[in-house]
Amino acid sequence: MKTVCFDKTGTLTKETLNVISFIPPEKEMELLQIALKGEAHSRHPIALSIQRACTERGIENMDAYSDMSEVAGKGIVAKDGDDQILLGNTKLLHDYGIDIEEKDVVNTVVNVVKNGELLGKIIIGDEIKPEAKEVIKALKSMKINPVMLTGDKELSARNVADQLGINDYKAKLLPLDKVNEVEKLKKTNGKVAFIGDGINDAAVLLKADVGISMGGISSDAAIESSSIVLVDPSLKGIITAIKRSSKAMNIVRENIVFSLAVKFLILVLSVFGIGGMWLAVFGDVGLAALAILNALRA
Ligand code: ADP
Ligand code: MG
Repeated sequence: MKTVCFDKTGTLTKETLNVISFIPPEKEMELLQIALKGEAHSRHPIALSIQRACTERGIENMDAYSDMSEVAGKGIVAKDGDDQILLGNTKLLHDYGIDIEEKDVVNTVVNVVKNGELLGKIIIGDEIKPEAKEVIKALKSMKINPVMLTGDKELSARNVADQLGINDYKAKLLPLDKVNEVEKLKKTNGKVAFIGDGINDAAVLLKADVGISMGGISSDAAIESSSIVLVDPSLKGIITAIKRSSKAMNIVRENIVFSLAVKFLILVLSVFGIGGMWLAVFGDVGLAALAILNALRA
């Protein structure tokens, strides 16, 4: 394995995001009320943070919007009677002909739009998992290149990548872009693993040579598409998994080389008439037993 790709949100950063602030600040309650009606049924970390912020402020979960749909990597589009509601990033807004500039903010911004008018922004921050830096360092020491592939914007991505010492990252990727990136890496860098939290990740988990999902909060689709599911949401499991599998592969190689070498030797000896029945038995049953004993080390 030469490359390990990470999703950012929920994988390198904590699965719980926090609502930090509102623009404009006085619209706090209104923005949350509008957003909750769209985000109430989503399991995206952004939606969960909005749900939590509402609970903390005593905002009731009113009826969700009709005609609501979640656009992967962009946000939520809903209908409130005749009103059209958008909750999401600038990409989503662009799709609906709204061109707003995003100033240099590191955090995730959920734009709240009603009938094409930007009502305000909910600012959401993510926090890097405490063990992430150590895991990235451990991968580098194993000569494995860490790559971050995220749907989040450039500045948030760079902020996390810089803090963790990840040199290669790509931001603003839709789920399909992640699949393409992994495909490209497979062509140039050999075997590629992808590690995700399972939100919008099923396709890329399937595409990677090894798909690893963080089982704690992963969706069923992600668990189905993964080769490895980490039950513990700590990233350290990745290092253990890589070490174990490379140890297992080494044992497999040892067994193959050792068995073939001995069998070849016996073959050569028997050509010269050396060795007999007992050597043949050793070459077969004895070698099998030795290989099994060696495999027990795994
Ligand atoms: P990541 O690759 O970082 O895990 P996702 O592909 O899940 O990110 O989402 C990318 C971006 O799409 C988010 O940063 C956010 O701007 C927007 N987004 C996705 N789902 C939602 C949602 N339910 N509500 C608001 N915004 C969303
Ligand atoms: Mg994600």
